[in-house]
Amino acid sequence: MLIVVMLAVNVYVIFRLTGLDESPCLCSGFKQFAVTDDSENSSPHKLVFVVWDFEDFENDVSDTVKNLSSTEAGIVIISDHSPYPPLPLRNSDSVHLVTTDTHLSSSVAESRPEFYISGASYVFLIPDGIRITGSLQNAVKFLQEVSAVDQTIAMVAFPVDTINLLCFDLNVDAKRWTLEYKSAENDTVCDVVDSKEFVLLMSKETLLNLSSPFLRPFSNAVFIQTAYHGLRLIIDRQKILSIHITSLYEGGHNRWKHREAEQRRFHHLYDKLGFKLIKHVNGRQEWYGCNKDTDRCFDTVIDDMPQYIYQGRWTPPCCLRALRETARHVFRIFESEHVRYWLEGGSLLGAARTGDIIPWDYDIDIGIYQDDISHSKHLSQIYHTGIAVVDNDGFVWEKATEGDFYRVQYSQSNHLHVDIFPFYSRNGTMTKDTWFKSHRQDTEFPESFLQPLEKISFIGVNVSVPNNVRAFLDFKFGVGVIENPRLPNANAVL
Ligand code: ZN
Repeated sequence: MLIVVMLAVNVYVIFRLTGLDESPCLCSGFKQFAVTDDSENSSPHKLVFVVWDFEDFENDVSDTVKNLSSTEAGIVIISDHSPYPPLPLRNSDSVHLVTTDTHLSSSVAESRPEFYISGASYVFLIPDGIRITGSLQNAVKFLQEVSAVDQTIAMVAFPVDTINLLCFDLNVDAKRWTLEYKSAENDTVCDVVDSKEFVLLMSKETLLNLSSPFLRPFSNAVFIQTAYHGLRLIIDRQKILSIHITSLYEGGHNRWKHREAEQRRFHHLYDKLGFKLIKHVNGRQEWYGCNKDTDRCFDTVIDDMPQYIYQGRWTPPCCLRALRETARHVFRIFESEHVRYWLEGGSLLGAARTGDIIPWDYDIDIGIYQDDISHSKHLSQIYHTGIAVVDNDGFVWEKATEGDFYRVQYSQSNHLHVDIFPFYSRNGTMTKDTWFKSHRQDTEFPESFLQPLEKISFIGVNVSVPNNVRAFLDFKFGVGVIENPRLPNANAVL
């Protein structure tokens, strides 16, 4: 009974510390807790330490392991290659070095960290250089208590004694390929912390349910994945464990090498998990997607459905940004050359809906009067020579290979583009010579829609559109399309 009372006090302390006492009923949390209470005489939890984020050229793994060996927990060191120089580890049944690259001598099971972790029920993720004192079983008990009260809390961060860990929230927007760090509403329960100087405890299930538990760098990789699943951490402010850390990379050269390696690992991490835009709390934005010097982010589009749609994602933000830039460039030039142009197809639909590109669209379509090709310096040059032109800003103007229309590409390597379709009037009907049979909206239409052209705000500039946009879109796509846009080949998405 005494234990139950003490634990109740403990839970109350947690409530006070975390601000969870705003929740309507303390008692329900207590009841949940009492059910999961494992009393003194139940057997201790099987524990394992995992160390996987260290540098070959300078590390403290051997001493870290020595310190951890004095506890009851097993130790697994994971590396994606055989560390060089080799780690000076003493042979022990409770310490395993797992290298996940290919070895002729080891079985596939032996190269998988899960093989060594699956026997444990709780896992401590350890940064290099850590020294721990305190009861690991009490640490686990703390995690059980808090997650009994709030099931979204799946991890405890035990900070190094000398530091004040800062809590942040993380918006993992996979659909938009975007990570956004935000100030946390609570300074003790949140999605991510801002340092590497802590030990992270979670259940084995939490860890192994992640798609890539051992991606580096330490903690960033884990927290992106846990936040994606709506799981949070609590910072241990009670000092259940006392944690120290050995300083590493104090020498200038190694500090530089470490920083460079971290940068490469961040690249790899974002690439693996599919994030191209990172928004930091201070407003800084990091872009990891395509730019003028790289390829486009996605392959040739088949059946109007880019590959990312099948992954439940929209057009990468770098691509949308590049499309907007290309389109503004084309609009500016056509305006100055008095080329009569208008938004067509999905681009007009996006303009009418939100003034922007439809989030899953992958190019921009505009129509022009065929007669006005002669007003356009670049188009008339291509018309006469058939040879592509790279303009002063690096955009590539060319004749499309698929038919009688033109294309402006973002750059020579990045083929995000604006398609330009020349139309001519035949007895008051606008027509052209190349048609896409699978595109319902690719049809002739009355010239009256272009007499006069109107202006609409699109991607931050005023651009030409047919008059009576709604009637034009209803005519081309079917009635009501502005309210109900569909994926081009929606039936293909299960
Ligand atoms: Zn891109």
